[in-house]
Amino acid sequence: MKHVGVLALQGDVREHATTLRKLGVEVHEVRRPTDLNGIEGLVIPGGESTTISHLLVSSGLRDELKSAFADGLPVFGTCAGLIVLSASILDGRTDQWSFGVLDVTVKRNGYGRQTASFEAPVDVDGIGPVPGVFIRAPRITEVGAVETLASYDHGDGSHPVLIRQVQAWGCSFHPELTADVRVHELFVNSL
Ligand code: GLN
Repeated sequence: MKHVGVLALQGDVREHATTLRKLGVEVHEVRRPTDLNGIEGLVIPGGESTTISHLLVSSGLRDELKSAFADGLPVFGTCAGLIVLSASILDGRTDQWSFGVLDVTVKRNGYGRQTASFEAPVDVDGIGPVPGVFIRAPRITEVGAVETLASYDHGDGSHPVLIRQVQAWGCSFHPELTADVRVHELFVNSL
């Protein structure tokens, strides 16, 4: 059985845990550095990236995770989790920081505010269409050394929405909010 952590500081932790359990994974909720013991990968949920970045510092997890990622711990961030992993943030708060393990620039709320949230099919390499739930989603506006596994055109040009850089993965939508487990399965199968 694989052991996967879900960062449980803020956001839709339960939905990720449910999806991972459907895949036969043993889920560890991560709130403090000792919770990282024994995990083979980590999921950073959607929620509010400014809050998550603050709580990562106050929990003592930021520095532990920086070295864990440098040592190769696989990580998958959705929506706010993608923002927290990215190299550069547009429209972030001045005190907001990020891990920089995904070589991309993301624009917060880059598909519009809450009222502009939407659902649309996203065609993922090797899987086919999955339901894409975009809620105040970040838009990936620039990519460096990442592999793009899915792009989506919201009527204003195609942008990556699921990316991978070695063992770090990010997506701008919320696969955990649908019954479709295949995006999580890609990550879990890579562990
Ligand atoms: N816009 C939010 C942020 O900046 C992310 C939204 C989400 O995770 N659904 O953190």
